[in-house]
Amino acid sequence: MSEAATKGSNGELLEARDISVHFEGLAALDGLSVSLDRTEIFGLIGPNGSGKTTLVNVLTGFQKATAGRVTLSGRDITDWPPYRIGRAGLSRTFQAVRLFRDLSVLENLEIAGVGHGLSRRAAEKRAVDILEWMNFEHKAYDLADTLPYGDERRVGIGRALASAPQFVLLDEPAAGLTDAECDDIMQLIARIPADFGCGVLLIEHNMRVIMGVCGRIHVIESGQSVAEGPPGDIQSNPDVIRAYLGSKPQDA
Ligand code: ADP
Ligand code: MG
Repeated sequence: MSEAATKGSNGELLEARDISVHFEGLAALDGLSVSLDRTEIFGLIGPNGSGKTTLVNVLTGFQKATAGRVTLSGRDITDWPPYRIGRAGLSRTFQAVRLFRDLSVLENLEIAGVGHGLSRRAAEKRAVDILEWMNFEHKAYDLADTLPYGDERRVGIGRALASAPQFVLLDEPAAGLTDAECDDIMQLIARIPADFGCGVLLIEHNMRVIMGVCGRIHVIESGQSVAEGPPGDIQSNPDVIRAYLGSKPQDA
């Protein structure tokens, strides 16, 4: 693949090209291409089972693609293991929160930073800064185990940012949250590109969140692309309404 073809916006792109993933005959992804840069919040939506989490798994090295390439700032990372991709600047959250329950909130963030190659001191400073950024300093020394669910999800986002990523991939960060908690999370996510110089790939069923914070939205169905565009276009696109918006997505 030519270097020039993968560049754009200073070459700081996360790009997946023609990705397919087959699970014993089932095509979870079928020739899907997406590309985002570090200044934007890019939404990925589609019905349950359409391949959203599989794409995040491929981007972060947790799932091998059957075909296709992934590049980060022009570097081919397709066959890299997850830890190496993490150190190169990709960070993620999981659909189910996975905090270290016996550690404090601050320690959870610090460990993420150290795990991604920051020095102990840099990880500690960054963890403190992020908790301040999230207005969460007062809970820094609470054990993760004691946090209510909504706080846990916030800390999950903080932890993804703790490794100083170029891109964060957020897999349904607002799942199960109340409307007020959704508003908090939306405000937090909306500030990520400008405050951290970090692009966001956001998977979310809650249309209010997606339409409220994303600059561009990519819609998939059965592992294939249906449409891509700004929120206004996506909401009125007949293919999208048929594939997704008309099908009463959960939690919307
Ligand atoms: P989404 O996140 O959009 O709900 P997923 O990416 O989790 O969808 O799943 C896409 C499809 O791939 C689904 O049909 C799912 O059952 C299947 N799938 C996902 N992971 C695996 C796996 N490890 N083994 C077999 N099938 C899988
Ligand atoms: Mg999923």
